Amino acid sequence: MSFSSQTKQELCRQEPERDCCRKAECYGIFLFGGNFSVSGVSFQTENAAVAHRAAQEAAEAAGVYAEIVSSIVRRGGKTTYSVSIPGEDQRRRLLHGCFHRSAEVNLRVREENFRSDCCLQAFLRGAFLCCGTVTDPTKGYDAEFSVPYMRLASDLCALLSRAGGLGLQPALVNRQGRFVVYLRGGEAVADLLAYLGAQNAAMELMQAKMLKEMRNNLNRRNNFETANIDKTASAAARQRLAIERIRDAVGLDALPEDLRELAQIRYENPDLSLRELGSLLPQPMSRSGVNHRLQRIVEFAERL
Ligand SMILES: [Zn+2]
Repeated sequence: MSFSSQTKQELCRQEPERDCCRKAECYGIFLFGGNFSVSGVSFQTENAAVAHRAAQEAAEAAGVYAEIVSSIVRRGGKTTYSVSIPGEDQRRRLLHGCFHRSAEVNLRVREENFRSDCCLQAFLRGAFLCCGTVTDPTKGYDAEFSVPYMRLASDLCALLSRAGGLGLQPALVNRQGRFVVYLRGGEAVADLLAYLGAQNAAMELMQAKMLKEMRNNLNRRNNFETANIDKTASAAARQRLAIERIRDAVGLDALPEDLRELAQIRYENPDLSLRELGSLLPQPMSRSGVNHRLQRIVEFAERL
């Protein structure tokens, strides 16, 4: 099951606490179907839990009954559920109960339906159940609402940005004739899911994000360490070459006394770190002391 479906199922297991919220959620579900007029109220979903939730809300909050018709798309074998309100009388009752007139050219969100914050939350939950999706957190952090009308989408955008004081910053884009309101980023999407009531999904997302960050940090550190090892190895190789050159050209005895012993030890121990080399000297020396002398050896060779 997709992360989206899983999230919606979790939301459908929540019972709205108050009647006002039940009505607001019912309103959100049917309004964002885009077909919300006296001549037809309907929406489609691939999620059985959402279809049943909508029918239950319609009955309990608005006193109208909904029809659910399931059909299987032949290719892919996906089941789609069409939820509709049959009968003009029923539709009129639902619409007027939600402060909509019988004939409206532009479908807008009627804010009279949620004067308190609890109802706004329920309404947005309904909108998400109807037209929302959320990306699997192992692939990315996006939440989207695909809305059929521009004005409805910008109303939704405005409501999301004031939802629960979360400071969400939704954006709006026209994608192939649909108006997509979206949120990007792990924190924002997790905040939205938790606000709508999907605590488990929000937690799963944050865990996936944490894991990913940990893995990235590990990789970065590994890369850093590998780079350092390469640097050490190439420095040692350069020093060995320099020592060979001195030995072949003038003999190691030509080196000043304080460099001679170190040159011998370095040549015999190409894998040792500077600190280890320092401890092998008859008079042990610090890392920076060893480094300084090795540089002088290399410079000596370069002058030959
Ligand atoms: Zn309420």
